[in-house]
Amino acid sequence: MEYLGWDQVEMGAILPSFEEESCDIVSKKQEDRNYAKTNSYTASVADWRVFKPVYNRDTCIDCQNCWVFCPDTAIISRDKKMVGIDYEHCKGCGVCAEVCPTNPKSLIMFAETEDNEVALANWPEKKKKEK
Ligand code: SF4
Ligand code: SF4
Repeated sequence: MEYLGWDQVEMGAILPSFEEESCDIVSKKQEDRNYAKTNSYTASVADWRVFKPVYNRDTCIDCQNCWVFCPDTAIISRDKKMVGIDYEHCKGCGVCAEVCPTNPKSLIMFAETEDNEVALANWPEKKKKEK
């Protein structure tokens, strides 16, 4: 298949998302799908981030809020269990940290340059309710 530049594609052209039949694509995990080069999944946006979400398994209740609200499907969840963050596709918008309901949050935004282990070691304590 010949790949065209973005300015060579004719109006109304259809860009295939997958290199194969995609009837059963929902049943395949993202990493097992045969994405076409024209699918944005094949591009990384990791360089865009200034802040990144760090995930703390210890406080997570697997509510799946982050998975539902992430605009880039960059939250990895398996069998309704939060697994982690796909840093290749996370843009660092902070929505996941905003919607995380635990106390302290199980997703917190840190500077992109922060080491994840250091971030986890400095995780905030549970906040007391104000009376
Ligand atoms: S920071 Fe934004 S893009 Fe990254 S995982 Fe959270 S919601 Fe998704
Ligand atoms: S929103 Fe927070 S508590 Fe819920 S699954 Fe995501 S990280 Fe875990």
